[in-house]
Amino acid sequence: MVNSYGIFFSITANHLCSFTNTTTTTTTTTSTTSLLHHHSSSLKFHCKRSFGSSSSLLGPVTRNQAIQSDSYSQTSELAGRSWNNLGFDPISTDYMYTMKCSEEGGFSDGGLQPFQSIQLIPSACVLNYGQAIIEDLKAYKKQDDSILLFRPEEYGLCMRIGADRLCMPAPTIEQFVEAVKVTVLANRRWIPPPDKGFLHIRPLLMGSGAVLSVKSAPEFTFLIYVTPVGNYFVEGMKPINLVVENEFHRATRGGVGNVKAISNYASILKAQAAAKANGFSDVLYLDSVHSRYLEEVSTANIFIVKDKTISTPVLGGTIQPGITRKSVIDIARNQGFQIEERLVSIEELFDADEVFCAGDFVCLLPVGSITYLDKRVSYKERGTSAVWQQLYLSLKGIQMGLTEDKMGWTVVLQ
Ligand SMILES: *Cc1c(COP(=O)(O)O)cnc(C)c1O
Repeated sequence: MVNSYGIFFSITANHLCSFTNTTTTTTTTTSTTSLLHHHSSSLKFHCKRSFGSSSSLLGPVTRNQAIQSDSYSQTSELAGRSWNNLGFDPISTDYMYTMKCSEEGGFSDGGLQPFQSIQLIPSACVLNYGQAIIEDLKAYKKQDDSILLFRPEEYGLCMRIGADRLCMPAPTIEQFVEAVKVTVLANRRWIPPPDKGFLHIRPLLMGSGAVLSVKSAPEFTFLIYVTPVGNYFVEGMKPINLVVENEFHRATRGGVGNVKAISNYASILKAQAAAKANGFSDVLYLDSVHSRYLEEVSTANIFIVKDKTISTPVLGGTIQPGITRKSVIDIARNQGFQIEERLVSIEELFDADEVFCAGDFVCLLPVGSITYLDKRVSYKERGTSAVWQQLYLSLKGIQMGLTEDKMGWTVVLQ
């Protein structure tokens, strides 16, 4: 069955299963326990049976229950791990969110489930033809224990645009934001403390129904899972060294480079691996028509600074319209910079004062050098007078709730 889930005996699932020793929900000292009991009783049933029983056995948790789960973050040992050792590897957390859509209707009846493996039929459209879209958002925990989401409705809109390009129905922006909130709150104890990192949120929309010939799936699954992520810069902001890619292109005109189609990511692995093998941090892509204009880095947009002017490649269907990019543009304008969205040629790199990248994962990241064919240009470290640094502090300040959010970009969860 396409829409069924098997239990994944990860540490998380086992942990939840262990709650099943108490079979009845008689002792609910906190609202949290009731949430756990709700799940554990389903899980117990599920575990006893077999792998791959219907997901409906794990009844969805209502929003109320999810929000009540807040209380257990206070008693948690921060999920029992050292926040200092967080890296960028996936970590199983407590809950994921799923919502289905059939051919007839829209998305409905979404809810939380214990984090677990999912079952897909081998003929699922996503597995054979790559019909799926992802987004990346993050949640920060503030000193007062509230949680900040950054522009979640913008990511919901991106998912809708991407879904349309891949012929998929998508959750409404309201459904998307609500699902993000519910998932983050249910996994609250996995959000690193303010200075230790953030919770990465991954919404995924896929054609989960079976197909044989190339066509859109008859059923779609929307899913959100979260992973705590450590600070990108354990030893401070180290500028990255980019290499300009001359053979491969990330995106082509009329393709899907401007949406987060999952197929965009497998196709950059080869160039990225070669760059890393040659000692570079990542790849900078050129346009596929002239191989002359800058597009972007593997998963981040690019900006160049010359005097008081900041330029970034104009969106034209082959560049990701990153929310970080868009936010940087607004912040820079407010701070009096001249911002130009236009074609930026490769030669301009050799004349720039600074180059930096912008994306959800890295926020802003300075570029130390760029290598193009046999030429290498290095950028001076300008310390606190650097433009990227000024913009970084403003953006990060808003995202982490350190400065007042005059833009109205953040959503606070208590
Ligand atoms: C996700 C992504 C970005 C950054 O987008 P944000 O919305 O800022 O996170 C930039 N380029 C590519 C190719 C991406 O996939």
